[in-house]
Amino acid sequence: MIIILLGAPGSGKGTQAKMLSSKFNIPHISTGDIFRRNIKENTLLGKKAKMYIDKGQLVPDEVTCEIVDDRINMDDCRNGFILDGFPRTIFQANELENMLQKLQLEINYVLNIVVTNQSVITRISGRRMCNCGQIYHIDRNPTKIDGICDVCGEATYIRDDDQPKTIKTRLQAYHQATKPLEDYYLKKGLLINIDGEPAPKEVFNEVVTVI
Ligand code: AMP
Repeated sequence: MIIILLGAPGSGKGTQAKMLSSKFNIPHISTGDIFRRNIKENTLLGKKAKMYIDKGQLVPDEVTCEIVDDRINMDDCRNGFILDGFPRTIFQANELENMLQKLQLEINYVLNIVVTNQSVITRISGRRMCNCGQIYHIDRNPTKIDGICDVCGEATYIRDDDQPKTIKTRLQAYHQATKPLEDYYLKKGLLINIDGEPAPKEVFNEVVTVI
């Protein structure tokens, strides 16, 4: 099964993708996570991506498509995967079609997590991350001990690009480059809108019901 998660930054794509990944036992592929890991490890890809990510801009299509092509060709993707944060442009969506055609695979669902701009701002400003992949929110999904990950016990942190000045640019990029994908997948009969406003578990129940 191949599932694409669309939605604004902070809409809860990552949280839903993790839950879907454990329910269906297929890999969760987040281009944002791959970039962040490379930035942390100071790789060439990390250096290239960092200048865009820090400004809230999209990483160029060619760079992003290459990492996705490499990842989906790995053995663990044979039974499907969840794409979180890719595609983000029409170019990427077309490239994905080509990649999947070569693998003789097809997209099953495109889940569009719908939230208001105001929710995006509230959510991103309260988001806390952990290096183990857990995502928290200071009000909606707080850690049991303040600032400490429930799962691994490490300190949580605020993403560099979750700063208020960067959020604005990220939202602009979303509206300009990514929103047109809704129409793109609607025309292909793959788009399913999901109300992303309720609590993560409720959103997940809706996701599971529709697929
Ligand atoms: P995310 O964790 O999905 O919010 O991604 C964090 C940042 O990584 C984005 O703001 C972009 O700068 C970059 N990024 C992630 N995925 C993509 C993509 N598909 N295309 C371009 N840039 C991306």
